[in-house]
Amino acid sequence: MPKSLVAISKGDDPEKMVAEVFALLGGVENLVKPRSTVVLKPNAGHPAAAETSVNTSPELVAAVIKEVKKGNPKEVIVAEAAAIGCDSLHVFDVSGIGAAAEAAGARLVDIKREKDLITIPIRDARSDLKKVKLPRFLLEAEHLFDLPIFKSHASMVFTCALKNMKGVVQDITHQQMHMTDLAAAMMDVWSVIRADLIVADLIRPAEGFGPHTTIPVDFGCVVASKDPVALDATACRMVGLGIDKVAYFGAAAERNLGYFEEEDIEVVGRTIAEVQKDLWFPYLEGFDTWPQYTFHTSNACSSCESLVAFTMEKLKALGQYDKNAGCHIVVGSKRDDEMPQGVDPNNVILIGDCVKRFRGKGVGHWSAGCPPLEPHPLWVFIDREDHFEMEPYFRERMAQDEKPWVEHIEMMREQRRKDQDEKG
Ligand code: SF4
Repeated sequence: MPKSLVAISKGDDPEKMVAEVFALLGGVENLVKPRSTVVLKPNAGHPAAAETSVNTSPELVAAVIKEVKKGNPKEVIVAEAAAIGCDSLHVFDVSGIGAAAEAAGARLVDIKREKDLITIPIRDARSDLKKVKLPRFLLEAEHLFDLPIFKSHASMVFTCALKNMKGVVQDITHQQMHMTDLAAAMMDVWSVIRADLIVADLIRPAEGFGPHTTIPVDFGCVVASKDPVALDATACRMVGLGIDKVAYFGAAAERNLGYFEEEDIEVVGRTIAEVQKDLWFPYLEGFDTWPQYTFHTSNACSSCESLVAFTMEKLKALGQYDKNAGCHIVVGSKRDDEMPQGVDPNNVILIGDCVKRFRGKGVGHWSAGCPPLEPHPLWVFIDREDHFEMEPYFRERMAQDEKPWVEHIEMMREQRRKDQDEKG
């Protein structure tokens, strides 16, 4: 069985690093058909400046366009459907991706504004997503290259190659994906539209409380592969994130999307050991961090566990932590029929679709979704009412929460720096 090839380049010149990973994977002549249409899908999900590492860096996007053009394509398109409620063209503008891509000779396309959509049935769907509407240009392009940035992520632990492809669907499908098993839905989308190359931005990946409140880290790497699972697994190993901490590798393997075991992957260029540097994933630090609360997390997925950790810190940032102390949190009891023992039914927050049945018995308050949308568990605590859909004021309320949250993260970051200095 041939191994999946993953190329790692390290340096300070994105053009050189991109050229190197293309060469390591067989050269542009083997990766780009002459006179083809090449669609590049960066992570351009949120309106944030380049230095935040919320989106793929404009330098990486420009470097890939320049490299692809050496293969003499007919056209290079940079396409995105930004996060729900965000305008893709505005994100291209604010992130710097738009200007960089146009200067390098690519055309920008907002997938959300496309009218020529084709409905594709998802055979053997593993989530509730049974079909997906995709733009004709995307389906007819000879190449689709996935250009993610590596970031920590509240509801997925991290985001990179596999998750970035969620941004090829319309808002309505995006919402449906959040209302079913998101990891399985992501793999369902991959089963009908597959990127044939991934070039990942680990130049300045983001640690901390991503995906929005990012802390960029100088890492200086570009990673590429034709196998999205092998790429994500290798990126995790590069940043010290155990792949056993991330539930969706199993979902990807079930869909035969690629390999994540080390023995099935051949790393070329730099070795993992040469570039390895641990990033900070506060979502994985354990529930002992918040002793004022009682957590019932039997059978929870890493997605919901990291969301709970995110919610705890956000409660602190918004001055709500002490007010809600003593509360019980039930998450992930997907295989348990009975409410976990010891739960106070008058003071319980239920998180995720798999605990919905307890809400049906009139217990507590509930945040819907699998996993829920990031701010919903927090708002359930504050409002003491269920949150199960994307309300019209969703973005405005998120924006209101942002300032104290950013200040809180800065304080945590400062504390972490001090702790590290003390350790030497
Ligand atoms: S709702 Fe349940 S099944 Fe879905 S991600 Fe959360 S713990 Fe997993």
